[in-house]
Amino acid sequence: MGVQHCKRCDKLFAKIKSPYCSECGEEIEKQFKIIRDYIQANPTADISTIIEETKVEEPILLYLLREERLSSTPQSEIPCRNCGRPIKCGKYCAECTVKMTSDFKKLEKKMANDVKTSKESKLTDDAFRIRNRDNDMDIRKR
Ligand SMILES: [Zn+2]
Ligand SMILES: [Zn+2]
Repeated sequence: MGVQHCKRCDKLFAKIKSPYCSECGEEIEKQFKIIRDYIQANPTADISTIIEETKVEEPILLYLLREERLSSTPQSEIPCRNCGRPIKCGKYCAECTVKMTSDFKKLEKKMANDVKTSKESKLTDDAFRIRNRDNDMDIRKR
């Protein structure tokens, strides 16, 4: 188990899925409810208005949108992390998600292949060495 710095207070804590420590997690839950209620009451508010009115922290608001805990209003879209196109929530627009999923699959396949290849070559290498243990010196010279 690794540790990580909390994105909000910089405290070191045991690595979990969230980038925030448990104390900040509680604060985020509080702010989440405030934002959610505010958006429900003001469905057309933009991000800066939400922050101004609710006094929540911008990184938290963006985090909640990225994590799809909140769905933004039409005026509070956030840019796709890849192409900058406005999106309602999450990290990437639909197009980039599709593209990245296929890129990721390709990468996964490549990595699986690499692992297989290195395992195989290691195996053959070991087998080779055992078989040729006696004349190892000779083989290495060649
Ligand atoms: Zn923290
Ligand atoms: Zn995109």
